[in-house]
Amino acid sequence: MDFSVPQERKLVTELPGPKSVALQARREASVSRGAGTLANIYMERGSGAILVDVDGNQLIDLGCGIGVTTIGHANADVAAAAAEQATKLTHTLFTVTPYENYVRVAEKLAEITPGDFEKRSVLVNSGAEAVENAVKIARKFTGRRVILSLDHAFHGRTNLTMAMTYRPWPERAGMGPFPGDLYSVPISYPFRDGLSGEEAAAKTIDYIRTHIGAEEVAAFFVEPIQGDGGIIIPADGYFRAIKTFCEENGILFVADEIQAGIARTGAWYSIEHHGVVPDIVTTAKGIAGGFPLAAVTGRAEVMDAVQPGGVGGTFGGNPVSTAAALATFEVIERENLIGEAQRVEKALWARIGDWADRFAVVGEVRGKGAMFGIELVKPGTREPNPEALKAVLKHATANGVIPLDAGSWDSVLRLLPSVVISEELIDDAASVIEEALAKLG
Ligand SMILES: *Cc1c(COP(=O)(O)O)cnc(C)c1O
Repeated sequence: MDFSVPQERKLVTELPGPKSVALQARREASVSRGAGTLANIYMERGSGAILVDVDGNQLIDLGCGIGVTTIGHANADVAAAAAEQATKLTHTLFTVTPYENYVRVAEKLAEITPGDFEKRSVLVNSGAEAVENAVKIARKFTGRRVILSLDHAFHGRTNLTMAMTYRPWPERAGMGPFPGDLYSVPISYPFRDGLSGEEAAAKTIDYIRTHIGAEEVAAFFVEPIQGDGGIIIPADGYFRAIKTFCEENGILFVADEIQAGIARTGAWYSIEHHGVVPDIVTTAKGIAGGFPLAAVTGRAEVMDAVQPGGVGGTFGGNPVSTAAALATFEVIERENLIGEAQRVEKALWARIGDWADRFAVVGEVRGKGAMFGIELVKPGTREPNPEALKAVLKHATANGVIPLDAGSWDSVLRLLPSVVISEELIDDAASVIEEALAKLG
């Protein structure tokens, strides 16, 4: 792949630099503080795994804007496809007069999502909107109302999806009332519960039986690898047992693949690692190389249970976004980016896999593909250590490395680099993070 910016970290000012500081002052006078930011460094361009700020600093991006620019920043093929489409047709509204791009994206989603059965898709604008539509579709198909999600889940920031999101702060505090018939149930969290997948699933199922009633449940939403929850990967066998329970009780199994899907974990979809075929899959973030697009894909009979006009929206499946998505799919296949995600996984294990042994503040390193979490603890315990995470983020961002935070206790350092990131950049970024970890013990 060709990059318009050399793939190296290079600092020419302090961070944030003077132009960022000036922009920050204007921002504070014009932008709601509710749109909080992790690092007040203003970006001008990007290429591959490197971001260039307004002061000319080159930073290593370990976050991809929360897992969006998986194929790298400003990919040339995606840019060209979007630019060409923008000169031809930017909007008709698919539900007024349709166009081919939308159909082609739906065809591709049917091909790459797990399951060898007939599928249908609907395209929308954001992850939260995809989850909301999946809820509507599941309720319509089953005639039931209850929706389950897992402890530590993140499903979005709209009223319905924030109510399906686990932690109160900062996503939800003070913003109710919330819709009913939504329940959070215990997850498998190997680092904290020490249970096998089967044991954890038995606990989840017992909770559903004793607190909710399986016959009331329309759908069970899961992130096969939790993102915002702290890169929690349920123990092997957990999702297989949950899927069996769903089948026995007429419950739809919905994989929210918004963060982990589209090549990030070394497979098109992260549920593939668990050997389970979902009834419905939600896709967003990485689907269009940075353009806003999301999808609900599911069994044909489930998706077609909805009356015409029952789902949709003005901008859903926009011609430019779908052109970008088609180019993204093409790049992933042509450049074998699923294989590249596996390469990144190997490189990360080799470089940071021993951090729990080397640093008392690291409880566990876990991950799949280009999706890793480093859970920080008070040394000698499993107590979450949010202060340590703050210190690591401060040191990293001041030195030109942009990782993410995560976890219900704000104590997981989250890495979602582009799958095109080089071994050299992984090594350099890891060295910067190690400086912070060494200071913490
Ligand atoms: C980001 C995310 C969402 C919400 O997507 P938006 O596009 O921000 O609305 C939903 N589910 C998961 C798993 C996510 O990571």
